[in-house]
Amino acid sequence: MNDAPGAPEKRRPLVLAAPSGTGKTTIARRLVEENDDFVFSTSATTRSPRPGETDGVDYSFVTAERFREMADAGEFAEWAEVHGNMYGTPTANLEAASERGETVVMDIDVQGAAQIQASMPDVTLVFVLPPDAPTMLERITKRGTESEEEVVRRLRSALEELARVYEFERVLVNDVLDTAVADVKAMALGEDAGRRPMDEADRIDTLRRDLAKELRQRSETLRDEDARPETG
Ligand code: ADP
Ligand code: 5GP
Repeated sequence: MNDAPGAPEKRRPLVLAAPSGTGKTTIARRLVEENDDFVFSTSATTRSPRPGETDGVDYSFVTAERFREMADAGEFAEWAEVHGNMYGTPTANLEAASERGETVVMDIDVQGAAQIQASMPDVTLVFVLPPDAPTMLERITKRGTESEEEVVRRLRSALEELARVYEFERVLVNDVLDTAVADVKAMALGEDAGRRPMDEADRIDTLRRDLAKELRQRSETLRDEDARPETG
């Protein structure tokens, strides 16, 4: 037990939630690389690996059947369907970190973060925001692995996720990466309370308006392309 004499100090799990393209995976990876006492919670997912991703490191890539078995056996602290694939946090990840006195870092979507918040009150929950819409779009598209349909899908879910930002206690604007990593570490260790969503209300309003406009324009272009008669 953690409370026993000589046992490691208990650390609150850190949940980074955000729409994709805000940089939360980058922040999570940096925290873990730079701090021995921060560990990444490798999620299980039914999506296929992207080039460069390693099974068991980036994700545990599992079949839909295996994912269902794990969910039915109560092996997940939370799980959700995101962009048509299933993702879940194995409870074992949280237990192992807790026993070792490490801060476990979860990079999960907003639905999953809400489940964690409901079931584990003692966590540090941070909603990561991009500085603005153009920067977020650049981050979504520069990975180069997403089709235009996928970008549109991500924009749509980004807007849905942003609608829930006020449920979160803290927000972090990921502008300069080094600053963002240092700020989130201080929040995880309880050294800094961080900023509240209301403190960033103007930024959030502008972001939602600009992303909605971008989504409309891209959806129209996609529709026009679909409607164009085949030639040749
Ligand atoms: P997410 O996990 O939110 O989808 P990623 O961490 O995959 O986002 O980041 C998306 C892209 O943005 C990556 O190419 C990453 O290198 C880049 N990125 C992340 N944070 C920053 C930052 N603060 N400044 C510049 N580029 C960033
Ligand atoms: P990607 O497929 O781009 O790696 O991730 C898509 C989304 O799923 C991201 O928002 C990511 O944070 C989220 N995600 C990754 N792992 C989990 C998880 O275990 N649970 C939940 N709820 N979301 C996850």
